Amino acid sequence: MRLCRFNDDRLGLVQGEEVLDVSSALQVLPACTYPLPRHDPLIAHLDAVCAAVRKLADNPGRLARHPLASIKLLSPVANPGKVVAAPVNYLKHLQEAREDKGIHHQNQVGEIQRVGMFLKATSSVEGPSGPLTIARPDRRNDHEIELVAVIGKSGRNIAKADALGYVAGYCIGLDMTVRGPEERSMRKSPDGYTVLGPWFTTADEIEDVQNLDLVIHVNGEVRQRANTRDLVLDLGDLIAFASSFYTLHPGDVLMTGTPEGVSQVYPGDRMTAEITGLGRMDVQIAGSAK
Ligand code: MN
Repeated sequence: MRLCRFNDDRLGLVQGEEVLDVSSALQVLPACTYPLPRHDPLIAHLDAVCAAVRKLADNPGRLARHPLASIKLLSPVANPGKVVAAPVNYLKHLQEAREDKGIHHQNQVGEIQRVGMFLKATSSVEGPSGPLTIARPDRRNDHEIELVAVIGKSGRNIAKADALGYVAGYCIGLDMTVRGPEERSMRKSPDGYTVLGPWFTTADEIEDVQNLDLVIHVNGEVRQRANTRDLVLDLGDLIAFASSFYTLHPGDVLMTGTPEGVSQVYPGDRMTAEITGLGRMDVQIAGSAK
């Protein structure tokens, strides 16, 4: 099932090039009281939401239907408790990061097994319909396309063998990055620098997460093209690693790292990101071209 959030916090079922408005399925969610949960309520109750969506879709008579191209897509996860991200998790990206001082800025670029993972501010999460505003025009600002897994149930010290059972689904992520000397968590957390989209694809739709093609074009030109089989730590490793430090909760977002080919983007650029089975999204960068 492919679920999107769109326009004014509507819930949509993606069917080909159309979206069926299934917002009334959200009525199955329990009311939240203060203090709010650490998890994302929709993902925490995904089975009930999907059942309600199926029921609506079986009899869609009076439901609104929109062309995909006509709606504003929001982040498919509204309230992730945390965004966990993997630094340099493809060998060729490790090589390019070590060789290009525009990327490393005298920061030591270590192997992920040694440096571990990092967190991005949840306030940086946005959908693809943006536009995305370059936070620091005085710096190099890069795109990083990444496979994103959305955690489906709480777990701590999850064994690698069990890890994929903790995944609710997937989406495409752009880990936008300001290059410079600061800590990763700061450079990768400006507003809008975690782009998630175009929608949430439930895990059952992805046959082999270790064999997905990723590609990102900027203004029609290929910049990054890779396959998840080349991840240094695969998704199971990452979930085991992350959960050995912190409890993962439903709706936590796990960005799996970017392959080689990261490059600078400028005001007016248009990024098009695509991953096998997860769709394609256009992300416009605000401003006019140079
Ligand atoms: Mn990244």
